[in-house]
Amino acid sequence: MRIDTKCIQSGYTPKNGEARILPIYQSTTFKYDSTEHMGRLFDLEEDGYFYTRLANPTNDAVAAKIADLEGGVAGMLTSSGQSACFYSIFNICEAGDHFVCSTSIYGGTYNLFSVTMKKLGIDVTFVDPDAPAEKIAAAFRPNTKALFGETIANPALVVLDIEKFAKVAHDHGVPLIVDNTFATPINCRPIEWGADIVVHSTTKYMDGHATSVGGAIVDSGNFDWEAHSNKFPGLTTPDESYHGVVYTERFGKAAYITKATATLMRDLGSIPSPHNSFLLNLGLETLALRMRKHCENAQKIAEYLSKNDKVSWVSFSGLEGDKYHELAQKYMPSGSCGVISFGVKGGRDNAVKFMDSLKLAAIVTHVADARTSVLHPASHTHRQMNDEELKAAGVTPDLIRFSVGIEDADDIIEDIENALNAAVK
Ligand SMILES: *Cc1c(COP(=O)(O)O)cnc(C)c1O
Repeated sequence: MRIDTKCIQSGYTPKNGEARILPIYQSTTFKYDSTEHMGRLFDLEEDGYFYTRLANPTNDAVAAKIADLEGGVAGMLTSSGQSACFYSIFNICEAGDHFVCSTSIYGGTYNLFSVTMKKLGIDVTFVDPDAPAEKIAAAFRPNTKALFGETIANPALVVLDIEKFAKVAHDHGVPLIVDNTFATPINCRPIEWGADIVVHSTTKYMDGHATSVGGAIVDSGNFDWEAHSNKFPGLTTPDESYHGVVYTERFGKAAYITKATATLMRDLGSIPSPHNSFLLNLGLETLALRMRKHCENAQKIAEYLSKNDKVSWVSFSGLEGDKYHELAQKYMPSGSCGVISFGVKGGRDNAVKFMDSLKLAAIVTHVADARTSVLHPASHTHRQMNDEELKAAGVTPDLIRFSVGIEDADDIIEDIENALNAAVK
């Protein structure tokens, strides 16, 4: 199936006489006829549902669709993008371990990695994603277990050179984990470029209608954990909390995702509600259509902004001459995403005035929604960072994150024009 077809058809195939639409299994638990049967499920000896924290048919169908869209072997849904990012690392890192991460990432992920995970004893080194491979390699230590980056960084819109990152990771015997939230599998499939694990905040384009916070992890099945067994004992040696199961032996290519479900979800429990997964599935059905319109609108608006003298700079990889144009052409030839960053002339104060003068574009923390939305990262998502950290994350005080919706582009442009005229004299 091609990608547009997968959006509609993957994940759930009704049998004769069954519901045409993915049913919502709004049930915490599942009934069995014998004690023995349920025992086998607890031992992971047999597939089957018993408790929604571990698996639920609605959630699983949607996870399978996302895995198929990304070209992975298996997927898992989480209750937020944050928990997907956390699990993706925590599944293979424990106290005393270390991982390397691009500096250009989502502010929430930055806090998670640099503050909260440090408290768990997991250390991170941030690297400039544009640095040459040797420089990124220099951040690796003997206890490094993963490399992490975002396909298109939120909000800096830095495009990741996925092949470069994959090579550095693999040269050091660790997986590359890519957050593909902004590009979506419609525009980029990181696994095709060497990524081993893909994570998502499904809250963004995948849901697309701002109804449900959620996340996903997809396992490519390509990383050879056994070849680097000393680094990943959690996958390659017996797990005492599951009767000594060795994930790589029992689950092969799905070892990583099975461990994430069987241990992290079991113990930490960040599951989405089946109802939210149902809504996510509706969003996924139109993902390909919407992404095309988001990209087409964003291209028009980026071109308009780049010609407006009240705008000091525009960052959008669809613009020729943009720093990331070439990388975007390589990894996302049919469009990147609908998010544009730009600076309002006059700095922070005028940026705030511009925001407050918009009528159609709404000030919301959200991004990548069907409705045009706008945010000032220095006042909102990134306000925990000092100026130095902001700079390292590629976020300047005048930066407006403009998430272009699927309305008529001319209406959005009129709104921007009026607000710029009000803000910049
Ligand atoms: C929003 C976002 C997250 C966090 O996801 P939530 O669903 O808000 O928890 C992680 N990564 C990226 C790139 C994001 O945009």
